[in-house]
Amino acid sequence: MDVYGLIGNPVTHSRSPPMHEAAYDARDITARYVTFEPSKDAVEAAIDGAAALDIKGLNVTIPFKQAVMEYIDPDPLAGRIGAVNTIDFETEPPTGYNTDIDGVQRAFDHHDIELNGTEAVVIGAGGVARAAAFALSDAGASIHIANRTEPKATQLAQAVPGATAGGLQTRDRVESADILINATSVGMESTETPVPQTHLHPNLVVFDAVYTPVETTLLQQAEAAGATTIDGAWMLLFQGVTAFEHWTGEAAPVEVMNAALRETLWDRLRG
Ligand code: NAP
Repeated sequence: MDVYGLIGNPVTHSRSPPMHEAAYDARDITARYVTFEPSKDAVEAAIDGAAALDIKGLNVTIPFKQAVMEYIDPDPLAGRIGAVNTIDFETEPPTGYNTDIDGVQRAFDHHDIELNGTEAVVIGAGGVARAAAFALSDAGASIHIANRTEPKATQLAQAVPGATAGGLQTRDRVESADILINATSVGMESTETPVPQTHLHPNLVVFDAVYTPVETTLLQQAEAAGATTIDGAWMLLFQGVTAFEHWTGEAAPVEVMNAALRETLWDRLRG
């Protein structure tokens, strides 16, 4: 029995176990995916312990995405971004990847959206905004980052080639943009939206990283405005798909993982 898992704090609401275990079943891999919640100052012990227990792979979430980098070998992309969300323990030292970037890029690919040459507005400057800004920039989009705390937007923009930054009021650039990414937690378990509805238009692709609920008020308003929408479950799916591929060396059963993920997200809504 192989063991994979997730470390973070908290991780109780993770949707990853059913998604990954559906993939193991589909590929006849005898494995389990377990969530672990080490205390915030126990990162090194958690990584050493996972290696000693022959855990094959770990996903990493808040607050450990930067802290784990000291104890593993980040691949060049994860090193450039400064965050790791997937660790492969089959190498010595373990290798760290950032599959959040793939999560964003593959979500757009899946919807046949060409990013090269587009203008994108990213709302937020936290972990997801960072992954999204690098993903879109690497794909040839020009990026504006608008964040409530402006200095954080400025700091992120300095790391992303050609990006500009401003406070939340600069989200009005959405009116002339091709892509809008909500990388804030606004809309999570609420009907709030990160941008006024009047900024939305039919030539826009709106990607909402929030996936609880899957159909956020922002996405409902975007659809009503005639925009193309991509929900946050696609990013969650594809970061998991890429992690599975790093760990097993096999193509992931994407449809199976998507069905399992969406079922667990809908189960939650049904209570
Ligand atoms: P984070 O690092 O904590 O960043 C949160 C961002 O939201 C910050 O830019 C923060 O602005 C902004 N924000 C929070 N409340 C706000 C408000 N009321 N008005 C305006 N801005 C506000 O979080 P994260 O890890 O990037 O996650 C962001 C969201 O993405 C969360 O909802 C999370 O559930 C979701 N997520 C999705 C995936 C996926 O795969 N789809 C993966 C991870 C996370 P300040 O800088 O001003 O505080």
